Amino acid sequence: MRVAIIGSGPAGFYAAEALLKCTDVVIHVDMFDRLPTPYGLVRGGVAPDHQNIKAVTRIFEKTAARPTFRFLGNVCLGRDVTVEELRQHYHQIVYAVGNEADRRLGIPGEGMPRCTPAAVFIGWYNGHPDYRQAKIDLSVSRVAVVGNGNVAIDAARILLCTPAELERTDIAAHALEALRNSQVREVFILGRRGPEQASFTPPELKELGEMEDVDPVVTPGELAGCVISEAEGNSQQEKNLKILQSFAARQPGAKAKKLHLRFLVSPTEVIADAAGNVAGLALEKNRLEVQPDGTVSARGTGEIEVLDVGMVLPAVGFAAERIAGVPYDEKARIIANEDGRVVDSVSRSVIANEYVVGWARTGPQGLIGSHKGASAHIVEHMMVDGTELAARELPEREAIDSLLHQRGVQIVSFDDWKRLDDVEVARGERRGAPRDKMVDVETMLSTLR
Ligand SMILES: Cc1cc2nc3c(=O)[nH]c(=O)nc-3n(C[C@H](O)[C@H](O)[C@H](O)COP(=O)(O)OP(=O)(O)OC[C@H]3O[C@@H](n4cnc5c(N)ncnc54)[C@H](O)[C@@H]3O)c2cc1C
Repeated sequence: MRVAIIGSGPAGFYAAEALLKCTDVVIHVDMFDRLPTPYGLVRGGVAPDHQNIKAVTRIFEKTAARPTFRFLGNVCLGRDVTVEELRQHYHQIVYAVGNEADRRLGIPGEGMPRCTPAAVFIGWYNGHPDYRQAKIDLSVSRVAVVGNGNVAIDAARILLCTPAELERTDIAAHALEALRNSQVREVFILGRRGPEQASFTPPELKELGEMEDVDPVVTPGELAGCVISEAEGNSQQEKNLKILQSFAARQPGAKAKKLHLRFLVSPTEVIADAAGNVAGLALEKNRLEVQPDGTVSARGTGEIEVLDVGMVLPAVGFAAERIAGVPYDEKARIIANEDGRVVDSVSRSVIANEYVVGWARTGPQGLIGSHKGASAHIVEHMMVDGTELAARELPEREAIDSLLHQRGVQIVSFDDWKRLDDVEVARGERRGAPRDKMVDVETMLSTLR
């Protein structure tokens, strides 16, 4: 049986591994990615100072070494090949395209210079080709990061790391250079709900208290009256609260940079200076309301303050991009599906032999490890639905390559990627880093040519 997986992030790789381990039928997996490089957000999202997490790619390399696996990098579904063509060449298709669009604050002033989605900032420092030319102006001293998840923590931490903390990571060279000259001294992480509702994971929150040149600042008032609701209480929130309490109990620190954690505020307007750059962020104070289902929501009180910041990074979530021919759930902003089986977005009837895994299935929730079981679960559906599909005659396996070559697409194989990997690692050695990333697709392709 022949399966196409679109996207080479964790969810795609874990699906490939589960498929290649199936014993009922021999499965050939062709994994496509729009970039010449594999691994999705492990390469382009996970923070450069978290190299231990990136080590998961060694597991994916083992999957890629299996004889019936192929990587076809630099091939974008919707640009280089259509869904209809994939249907002709494969028995089943798995969409593992992640969440590459960012959610917006939806307030006046959003989008002005120095109000940049965190996804752009993260892609920029991680050397993602889409963002290598993003304009990140670090000449300001105070920055607001809006959002209470790990992405907000990552963005704030990277803004405040010392050059020495970053030099030995695989941060993109252009970002390292810019951060060396950064004037940023204070970052505010802003949450619309309370500390109990923040979705930080405790190790990431705790790490903010261990940075070389940064004092975390939590005013005791921010934690006053913190209660964990029955519906939402869990050990993560209790741990977070304890960490925040320990930050609040610290004596005023002497480190040069400050990281403020503020809660119960919603941005209402990005304020511009005369030149049209960010000059401040208007915030409305919130109070919490417990809903009938036990969840807690934020309600504005009408009380407004202006936070004096020169840059705003909204980190309020991600959504799947639309792909021509793939049903899209407009409300959840994911690929329309019922437990991983793709469905028509209106009638909700199943589109046979098409599946979705990872963030494209659920939205941006779950760490890398969570995709292992989740993708294997969808592969179980695939096996229930389709082992007899293998009887359907398909064109030769390489026919898809010919089609792409005719269109002038330079397919990047896994061996090609290993050559790029070698080049990056060798370049990194010169600065004592694990790698120095290539950040532009044309350079990667010409290096391979
Ligand atoms: C900033 C950030 C930091 C994170 N840090 C951590 C962390 O420290 N630890 C942790 O466990 N988790 C972390 N996560 C979460 C983790 O990265 C995700 O759970 C995981 O990457 C989601 O996997 P995925 O395969 O669904 O999507 P992705 O990893 O996004 O992979 C999607 C892949 O699809 C490809 N693609 C998209 N569209 C197309 C197309 N049309 N054609 C072909 N290919 C396409 C993309 O190029 C990409 O390679 C972080 C996430 C973010 C955003």
